[in-house]
Amino acid sequence: MRKIPVGVLGATGMVGQNYIALLSDHPWFEPRFVAASPRSAGKPYKEAVAGRWHLEKTYKAATGELVVADANDVSTAVEASKRGDCAFVFSALEMGKDEIKALEEAYAAAGIPVISNASAHRWTPDVPMLIAEVNPHHTDVIPLQQKARGWGKGFIAVKPNCSIQSYMTPFYALIEAGFEIRRAVVATLQAVSGAGYPGVASLDIIGNVVPFIGGEEEKSEKEPLKILGAVSGGGIANAEFPRIAAHCNRVPVVDGHTACVSMEFGEKKPSIEEIKRIWRNFKALPQEMNLPFAPVQPIIVRDEDNRPQPRKDGGADKAMAVTVGRVRPCPVFDARFVGCSHNTVRGAAGGGILNAELLKVKGYVG
Ligand code: NAP
Repeated sequence: MRKIPVGVLGATGMVGQNYIALLSDHPWFEPRFVAASPRSAGKPYKEAVAGRWHLEKTYKAATGELVVADANDVSTAVEASKRGDCAFVFSALEMGKDEIKALEEAYAAAGIPVISNASAHRWTPDVPMLIAEVNPHHTDVIPLQQKARGWGKGFIAVKPNCSIQSYMTPFYALIEAGFEIRRAVVATLQAVSGAGYPGVASLDIIGNVVPFIGGEEEKSEKEPLKILGAVSGGGIANAEFPRIAAHCNRVPVVDGHTACVSMEFGEKKPSIEEIKRIWRNFKALPQEMNLPFAPVQPIIVRDEDNRPQPRKDGGADKAMAVTVGRVRPCPVFDARFVGCSHNTVRGAAGGGILNAELLKVKGYVG
């Protein structure tokens, strides 16, 4: 099969490098256009990332030779698209929110679909915020988005924040099984790679915990409501529940976000054994369609008292599965558990690639 040529905006950053590494052997997509800030523009990719490549996995020699474009110059991507080198872009840019919003809209208006990791468009009502296992039907808003804005084949679809990955799919599996979750308290322990590079200063984080990550608690509390919402009247109407209180902490872990969660159900309450069974049996559209980046088992349940751990479980099933453990009764709410997932893979580049696979099989890209 001829691979679909794709672009990565922010290709030199923490998430961008993950995209490049994960796409290096992807069966459907091939990175053929890379863009970053004017600081990197004009250099071959291998030179732009020399001395700041963060991953064990590397990139193909041909990718290293790609000349980095200035992501602010949409016309370069349009030329690449005309040459057959850029069918759509993954956006992993770190800039001001308004700048990213305008830039992603400019790409979409120019006919280049944007699959984004940035938070800029997460609250735009007609932009779907996708977790492929949870709300694949939210792609139905894309034709409405294109029509309302007069765009042709361009559109914007986003991924949620990496902090919610560790509890969002477990919540959804229980909701889908008929158990409403009314309230939850979530304490996250988030890895330093979530802050990009150079990220948090080493003197702040080595041997320490920082009990604040700007904007993260609001995202952790509110984004699940859009993801669980319904396509309605040209946009997505948010769900009312679960009400979530989040405490987000930065911890000295390289990769892998952990969440300690207590949840309260509606009138129907599952037993602990039922919760574990639902999670163990949960499969969704990406598994049914056998998408290349879909984990075989989206939720892995561990019975050991000391799991999950980011170092041991963050990489489970291509680093795309959520591992849960310590599932037990809660003396204040109904049940509690610990969830763990890989923030730069499942929570960022891998999740974006899985969304692209979903959009491809639905005919929106490629
Ligand atoms: P990062 O390591 O700081 O990388 C930022 C990227 O944006 C680099 O490629 C950088 O290019 C480019 N950039 C910076 N300023 C620019 C400008 N003025 N014009 C064009 N390009 C510019 O950040 P990151 O951690 O990869 O995060 C990227 C995005 O993903 C952010 O929106 C972040 O919120 C989101 N995200 C991150 C994670 C995570 O776990 N890290 C998870 C989910 C979502 P240069 O190298 O040339 O400076």
